[in-house]
Amino acid sequence: NIRVRYAPSPTGHLHIGGARTALFNYLFARKQGGAFIVRFEDTDQTRHVETGIDSQLNGLKWLGLDWEESVDVGGPYGPYLQTQRLPLYQPYVQQLLESGNAYECFCSEEDLEQERAEQEARGEMPRYSGKCRHLTAEQTAAYRAEGRQPAIRFKVPEDKIISFDDQIRGLVEFESGGIGDFIIVRPTGIPTYNFAVILDDHLMKITHVIRGEEHLSNTPRQMIMYEALGLPAPKFAHLAIILNPDRKKMSKRDESLIQFIEQYRDLGYLPEAVVNFIALLGWSPGGEQEMYLMDELIAEFSLDRVAKSPAVFDMDKLNWMNNQYLKKADPVIVTALAVPHLQKAGRIGEALSEEQQQWVTSLVALYQEQLNYAAQIVELTELFFKEDVVFEDDEAKALLTEEYVPVVLGSFLGKAEQAEDFSPAAIQALLKEVQKETGYKGKQLFMTTRVALTGQMHGRDLNHTIHLLGKNKVVARLKKLL
Ligand code: GLU
Repeated sequence: NIRVRYAPSPTGHLHIGGARTALFNYLFARKQGGAFIVRFEDTDQTRHVETGIDSQLNGLKWLGLDWEESVDVGGPYGPYLQTQRLPLYQPYVQQLLESGNAYECFCSEEDLEQERAEQEARGEMPRYSGKCRHLTAEQTAAYRAEGRQPAIRFKVPEDKIISFDDQIRGLVEFESGGIGDFIIVRPTGIPTYNFAVILDDHLMKITHVIRGEEHLSNTPRQMIMYEALGLPAPKFAHLAIILNPDRKKMSKRDESLIQFIEQYRDLGYLPEAVVNFIALLGWSPGGEQEMYLMDELIAEFSLDRVAKSPAVFDMDKLNWMNNQYLKKADPVIVTALAVPHLQKAGRIGEALSEEQQQWVTSLVALYQEQLNYAAQIVELTELFFKEDVVFEDDEAKALLTEEYVPVVLGSFLGKAEQAEDFSPAAIQALLKEVQKETGYKGKQLFMTTRVALTGQMHGRDLNHTIHLLGKNKVVARLKKLL
């Protein structure tokens, strides 16, 4: 029975990198008919954020993921929050101490710092010297009498090659000599990540650990602990890092990039598009196809098509992809995404009458094709909300000095004032009449009308644009201009 987990630390918002790890685990579980578990690693209390858990779960839900076991739905191997599992770890600490694979270490922060400084001065890689490995009973008692609380360290075997078959990278080998004895339980009694994670994975019967490459160097530590405890290790798969568009390591603090799932939601991206985009960060099914809905991703997913080399985060591609999805989406859905942005910008009120609702839906439908994300509606539809037309384009300004302009616009104004029907079809007919009356057609008719009413040389369908501007605005704008 395949069982995989996504194990974030609740230290902030769901980041695109975490979302990718979660998604790949999810796709793997669904493809294999296995279980997807979300548990939280909160033993590093200094980095804990109050809303971290909700933010992770809500982000995953928004993306369309679901899970068999977690803090919200429970499950047979809970609790799913590490700090609630402390008693479960206790017997394993005992086992390691008794078998001589772990020992108490009384070194203080200052002791360790001094040791590090000395090693660095000698040009060595700093690592714990193991000086508490052989404390006598008297020394131990003396430390305790001083009131020192020991950490517990794992005794790393010497001169051992630790190897495992990474499901993405193939054979990976480490020398144990490079790894100093590391702390598995802090003096506070709280286990460290490396220790808690292997026990959680074991106790939760995790079969495959799929996680970011930043954990690759933890894996040999975890392997030797499994071995010391006589427990089978799960299979490991490490996902290559994600790079910036400029091929540098992505930094969560880089605000020029949109990196958090909540931001995508708030800007009006569609979850289907975001999932599709994230799935292709380091995975590809081969072939030309780029658009995949969740079910297709599940059907296609396999670890052997995950790339060993870094993925590049390309915002333009995400925008392109989201545009593809938005274009095909039901206008009602796109409108629902766009309305809060128009409201926030003060373009429309909080409560909409049926008529206003219809008008907004038509407005959004007119621009739907151009949206990379829904928030862009504010900028794109500015011309409908301004009192007056804004003429910024020199070409547009020049066009309005042509001698035929007053003729065309005068004729149009007269007919618009009389018009009872202001539907797109009626406007089309009206423009035809202007053409008949004035003899102007083509650019001289249509471009002139467009520029006069919108200030722009190009835009969306003219009849619909005029219709959505409405008779009052159209008449007022023309009068002002003439
Ligand atoms: N809590 C770790 C992280 O957020 C997860 C490590 C793991 O998957 O083993 O990176």
